[in-house]
Amino acid sequence: MIIWFTRHYERILSEDVSHRNCTHCHNNVNYKFIRQRTWYFILVFFIIPIFVFPISTKYRIDCPICHAYYEVGKSDVRQWLKEQKEIEKILKN
Ligand SMILES: [Zn+2]
Repeated sequence: MIIWFTRHYERILSEDVSHRNCTHCHNNVNYKFIRQRTWYFILVFFIIPIFVFPISTKYRIDCPICHAYYEVGKSDVRQWLKEQKEIEKILKN
């Protein structure tokens, strides 16, 4: 007997990436930065228990008010997180 399914796992990379105007609700918000990974599960009973492997990784920014989201590239993630760390360093000093 074989059962397979996919499952999404989300991780918030940052709570406030950038202060922008949401194009959906038109509020000025700090977007959340989220990584969504999709995993593929295959359960094979009586032979080998489980195969699990990732099939996709997507990055997106979410509006905290209306929950509209916009997909972004991995290079955008690196750039924004780097900018945020630099801002935090400036604020600490
Ligand atoms: Zn919004």
